[in-house]
Amino acid sequence: MSRRAPSPRTRPWDDPAGLVGVDEARDKILAAFAPLPAVAVPIVEALGLVLAEEIVAASPVPPFPNSAMDGYAVRASDTAGASVQGPLHLRVVGEAPAGYAPTRNVEPGTAVRIMTGAPVPDGADAVVRFEETDEGDRATAPDRRAGDTVAVRRTARPGENVRPAGEDVAAGDRVLAAGTAVRPAEIGVLAALGRDWVAVHRRPRVAILATGDEIVDAGSELGPGQIRNSNSPLVAALVRRCGGDPILLGVARDTTAELRAKLAEAKQADLIVTSGGVSRGDYDVVKDVLQTAGRVDVWQVRIRPGKPLAFGRIGGVPLIGLPGNPVAAAVAFEQFARPALRKLLGHRNLGIPIVQARLLDRIDNPGGRRHFVRVRVEADAPGGYVARVAGSQGAGVLTSLLLANGLLVVPEDLAVAEPGTVLPVQMLDWQVD
Ligand code: AMP
Ligand code: MG
Repeated sequence: MSRRAPSPRTRPWDDPAGLVGVDEARDKILAAFAPLPAVAVPIVEALGLVLAEEIVAASPVPPFPNSAMDGYAVRASDTAGASVQGPLHLRVVGEAPAGYAPTRNVEPGTAVRIMTGAPVPDGADAVVRFEETDEGDRATAPDRRAGDTVAVRRTARPGENVRPAGEDVAAGDRVLAAGTAVRPAEIGVLAALGRDWVAVHRRPRVAILATGDEIVDAGSELGPGQIRNSNSPLVAALVRRCGGDPILLGVARDTTAELRAKLAEAKQADLIVTSGGVSRGDYDVVKDVLQTAGRVDVWQVRIRPGKPLAFGRIGGVPLIGLPGNPVAAAVAFEQFARPALRKLLGHRNLGIPIVQARLLDRIDNPGGRRHFVRVRVEADAPGGYVARVAGSQGAGVLTSLLLANGLLVVPEDLAVAEPGTVLPVQMLDWQVD
């Protein structure tokens, strides 16, 4: 899409009808992405990635019936009628520690001293806890050895304190579907099933480039008229939090040669994210390069903060051009780059977690745009959430993001959001699966 040069009298970006809707922009971007190919990784490395295979249990978990308690493995029928007042005596025929096959069966009238996790010997169908035998009387009764007797003070139910084989997972169970996002729980289950590697969609490589003659990286001295490059580290952190691998390409001056040279370094990336150079002042230089090095459109999106957004391909690699103002860049990243990254990762749910919150302040939203307002959301007794505006909403006021934990969404058709209005809030720091 190309736009005519701006004139002071007709400014297409101020006319909501001339802008691209937020949903339309996101959908156009998402159409250009598909899940990356599968790779095998060690299971702990799969955290935050998405399974590219179905996991079916080859064998049961646990693999054998085992004791849930330290105690005595018994035949429940041998304990019938046992109580504190009338204990029954069984002959101890051996010990069953965890990690070894049982050496003794439990014949009628006998018991095996057993530890938590040890296989329950043949013949036994219940475990009586130490506390319910005379072994609980530490002062008077030492640990029983083979040949001793143990006094049982409880009538055991068949199966009591025995974890059957397959209690957790039966052989043949479909435990995890392809497309599952891997959390610590999935990693634990994979290990329980004996898997030390798993197939996941590859982690996207994201090349990050800042543009602007005035931008210098942190760590170097500021010259006259210069400011620090906050966008690249911010975007790199957002990329990493989404599960991508950021590649920092530094800062390109606003010249054709330098932009082209930097973009050429991004050939191996799955996505290029630039910032700056798409607003009115920089429009032509960056647009020229993006359009001659590839095919990139510059849109005016019906969004606040940060209307300008570029999208297209450079050397076959998709490129999302964020606005330069840091908060606008962060907001645009969340709306457009994050769902694209999540799609590359193989996630099915591409959205940001949302809560409905009651607004405590007034927000003006002229101009028919979707306004993403930095807010602090708190739980509100007796349930529900309230949202307070988190400081100045200037597109360059990055510190108001420090106070914010969400972006409250004021819809395009709401010119004023009054206190008390209930509106959706995108929760920026919540994990999504
Ligand atoms: P631009 O879209 O290039 O006109 O930039 C819009 C505003 O964002 C200007 O005030 C820039 O100085 C600022 N800006 C652009 N890039 C960055 C960056 N990487 N870090 C911080 N501010 C930036
Ligand atoms: Mg610039």
